[in-house]
Amino acid sequence: MQPHGEVRSLSAGVRRIVAPNPGPMTGPGTNTYIVGETDLVVVDPGPAEPSHIEAILNCVGDRLKFIACTHTHPDHSPAAARLAEATGATLIGRVTADDQHQDLTFQPAAQIEDDDCIAGEGWTLRAIRTPGHVDNHVCFLLEEEGMVFAGDHIMNGSTVVIVPPGGNMADYIVSLRRLLDYDVKVVAPGHGELIPDCRGEVEKLVRHRLMREAKVASALGSAPQSLDGLVTTVYDDVDPAMHEWAKLSLLAHLIKLEGEGRTLKSTVEGVDHWALIA
Ligand SMILES: [Zn+2]
Repeated sequence: MQPHGEVRSLSAGVRRIVAPNPGPMTGPGTNTYIVGETDLVVVDPGPAEPSHIEAILNCVGDRLKFIACTHTHPDHSPAAARLAEATGATLIGRVTADDQHQDLTFQPAAQIEDDDCIAGEGWTLRAIRTPGHVDNHVCFLLEEEGMVFAGDHIMNGSTVVIVPPGGNMADYIVSLRRLLDYDVKVVAPGHGELIPDCRGEVEKLVRHRLMREAKVASALGSAPQSLDGLVTTVYDDVDPAMHEWAKLSLLAHLIKLEGEGRTLKSTVEGVDHWALIA
């Protein structure tokens, strides 16, 4: 495992620093990537931990041109404002509605759109819009190396949590497949090590989500059931300590099924319940 604060070279043009925020949802910590030699971009600066910001500043010196954020969860973007203040770099990314899970200090110059590019000497980053984990999520493809900075679209070692309403399971599956439209040679996730086989990983993740969806559908019956009732059946292969998080993704599956006209939501004693439409 890469020690926090160490700068590790991953390829000719990419270095990585891991933030000191390990945990069940963040794996070893948030990966901050630094691209370029003479003028630089930082992808996902991470949490506003002083030691992490110092490690990034020591690495970039006075060469930082852009700070790109895949999304605005608190483990990905809060260091951006402080880094921009210290270096004058331009903030790149998207904002979204406040759902109590967003870093509201991140204020990009403009909302980056699909296929927008930023570039420096020897590198080009192309934005790929990937809503799903959260609706402002963007991946960045380093075209010269075929490396995609995937934020929380794909993680190595843990399953991405989809938190409605900002997160959307139907969008997530579409966005996973979007990566197959590009010449991706390696996935650089927001958490965990590089993933060499993008197509294999995307196919595995889509299969996993559809397996879970089938499990949701088979656990549902004509009698309405609550999230608490469903989670133990649908996530019987997951540590019960993670069930509170699993309920968020379960809700995302139920919303997808509801959108497809396959489930009906009702309220029983003030609690949402779902039943299959026969
Ligand atoms: Zn996230």
